[in-house]
Amino acid sequence: MNLLSKLAQSIQPYTAGEQLNDKKYVKLNTNENPYPPAPKVYEALQAFNADMLRLYPAPNSDALREKIAEAEGVKIENIFCGNGSDEVLALCFPAFFDSEGKGACFADITYSFYPVFCDFFSIPQKIVPLTEDYRFNLNEFSKVDCQGYFITNPNAPTGVGIEGEQILSFVRNNPQKIVVVDEAYMAFFNQSVASYVNEYPNLLVVKTFSKSYSLAGIRSGYAVGCQALIDGLFRVKDCFNSYPLDRVCQEVSMAAIASKEYYDECTQKVVAERERLTHALVELGFYVLPSSANFVFAEYKKTGGKFIYEQLKQRGVLVRFWNKPQLKNFCRITIGTKEQNDILLQSLREILNLTE
Ligand code: PMP
Repeated sequence: MNLLSKLAQSIQPYTAGEQLNDKKYVKLNTNENPYPPAPKVYEALQAFNADMLRLYPAPNSDALREKIAEAEGVKIENIFCGNGSDEVLALCFPAFFDSEGKGACFADITYSFYPVFCDFFSIPQKIVPLTEDYRFNLNEFSKVDCQGYFITNPNAPTGVGIEGEQILSFVRNNPQKIVVVDEAYMAFFNQSVASYVNEYPNLLVVKTFSKSYSLAGIRSGYAVGCQALIDGLFRVKDCFNSYPLDRVCQEVSMAAIASKEYYDECTQKVVAERERLTHALVELGFYVLPSSANFVFAEYKKTGGKFIYEQLKQRGVLVRFWNKPQLKNFCRITIGTKEQNDILLQSLREILNLTE
């Protein structure tokens, strides 16, 4: 007897990167920030009154929405908070797409959760290939008959970014279709279009506390959009979970938002290391896509990505590899601290010596 629904039996779920939190690994596989959260985050956790856990949290995270709105230069009614940006993205599908509609359009090489959400909510998919040099082909995107788009900027797993002005002109040219811009890695590129949501009623920007705020463990993300789109997300959220952000998460996220200077410094360090690592990888014979994110996508044709991934893992360094035809020569490497990146480079030198 099988008591599962047809959907639960047949769906192919998303696979996240390995979470081997064993200290012996240098963990460069899930784009976490190598630096600790801001001091204010520690203070907020210490000051947190556990008595309050008896009570449900603020259902819509209003105090946090207020702080995020201030930081993004918009109003509280332009902000929606979710349990990680994955949850915000998940809710976008039933909020903005119909199962009998024209579908959601995204690139063939992009965040691999989008097709899973489409399958889960029975939403047709329209897939547009990246160009040969792994860029979004926005001209081709515009020609697609669909209900809306998901554009990851900078893209994952490639790291390639699109200038904000190009995104805005795409949004202007497609006024009848919603454009969801997934800006999970935007702090490392600084081309956010979030402050334009009141000019473009079809623009929704999704962001996260997981990467640039060093808070992947707290599960906090948000959307910025015009009030009509945000109201749509609230309607859908209230069909799933009244309280997606717990009390600790709301406090910690507010402490992070108040720590701009600290995080700007961390971001600068990550960007400087990204440039150093890119050059070092090129010197070792890798082809590295120009990255605007906190990771690099590096190709090594001679052995393929799987060999590099496995050899690195044996040496205690975790990176991400996808066994897909277009990606099989690549590894995605999260930018670590200088020390972590040096261990990675030293391990790679040993591995490449094996193949001489
Ligand atoms: N968007 C992209 C492009 C990502 O790579 C990730 C991280 N896997 C997310 C969204 C989700 O991040 P989180 O749920 O941690 O906010």
